[in-house]
Amino acid sequence: MNIMVTNDDGIHAAGIRALAEAMSELGTVTVVAPDRERSAVGHSLTLHTPLRIFELHKGWYAVDGTPTDCVNMGIHNMLPITPDLVVSGINHGANLGDDVTYSGTVAAAMEANLMGIPAIAFSLATFEPSNHFSDAAQIAIQVARRVIANGLPSDTFLNVNIPNCPHDKMCSPLITRQGKRSFIGKIVDKTDPRGRKYYWVGSDEPHLNDEPGTDFHAINRNHVSITPLHLDLTNHKSLSILSEWSF
Ligand code: MN
Repeated sequence: MNIMVTNDDGIHAAGIRALAEAMSELGTVTVVAPDRERSAVGHSLTLHTPLRIFELHKGWYAVDGTPTDCVNMGIHNMLPITPDLVVSGINHGANLGDDVTYSGTVAAAMEANLMGIPAIAFSLATFEPSNHFSDAAQIAIQVARRVIANGLPSDTFLNVNIPNCPHDKMCSPLITRQGKRSFIGKIVDKTDPRGRKYYWVGSDEPHLNDEPGTDFHAINRNHVSITPLHLDLTNHKSLSILSEWSF
């Protein structure tokens, strides 16, 4: 089993160390990850500057690009053969509901899915500095084992969110759908030391729609949340409504 590991928190993050170590129980691991934090870059691709690869030690490569660049570089240029599985994470912070569209962690799995490779994004649902990455890594092994054994339905990758607690305190994994949040974005404006205004995108506590069956609902109750995602953003319910518009 050849497994590629990436993330968006950067190659020096605690979450990727825990994930790479866990995946080494399942096969040969190659890490290709951004050389610095690239959270919330979404599915962006570097087109206007060259990319460079830095080998940190055997099987660990840093790329000065985005998570999507890392998956591309890893699969096309660095790994000797196409990996059997691509895993991304373990992100420091949840990737729930609409936030998956901002997530570099999820986008890396998305990119692997576009290449036809089974892929899983893992996130630890906390922004607290004290955290349980090694407990989350145990869950990552369990999920990866099932993906390896059963495969994934076509056009499907997984978004897994893991509660921040000891392994034996977590509730059983639930298969969930992507939830919704009410976005209460906040942009802070301040003045710099030279008297010019600057702005910084802030974030409030997300207001989650706590509906049964969603990723939010599962995580709020200490369950591991496993959401199957796909890239078809078409709103199929709207097709028939819009097809009645006359042009
Ligand atoms: Mn991140």
